[in-house]
Amino acid sequence: MHEVFRDWDSAKVGLVNQLLKSEGIQTVLRNWTGSNITEVPIPDMFPNVCVLNHEDFVRARQILTDYFQAPSQAMEEWECPKCQEQVDGVFTECWSCQAPKEDPQKS
Ligand SMILES: [Zn+2]
Repeated sequence: MHEVFRDWDSAKVGLVNQLLKSEGIQTVLRNWTGSNITEVPIPDMFPNVCVLNHEDFVRARQILTDYFQAPSQAMEEWECPKCQEQVDGVFTECWSCQAPKEDPQKS
């Protein structure tokens, strides 16, 4: 068994489990209580999701990476640094003046 995801928030772990199952990956939940830990959290005791088959491990990691990176960051509207137009998150340059999106990681 190969652990692919661990979090104190069992709701998140449950969600990840559903996500992987919907992709046809066999998963096993460990330390699963169905409710969030309210006492002092011990990382070793956190609920976690494992994949049963080693062949699925890389794919499972990829699915999770895509899932957690994609929606919030990529789709948010951004303001053009040049002409201050609001640009839809799917575009990487301004639809009005073609200025590239300012990358906050660069500065
Ligand atoms: Zn612009």
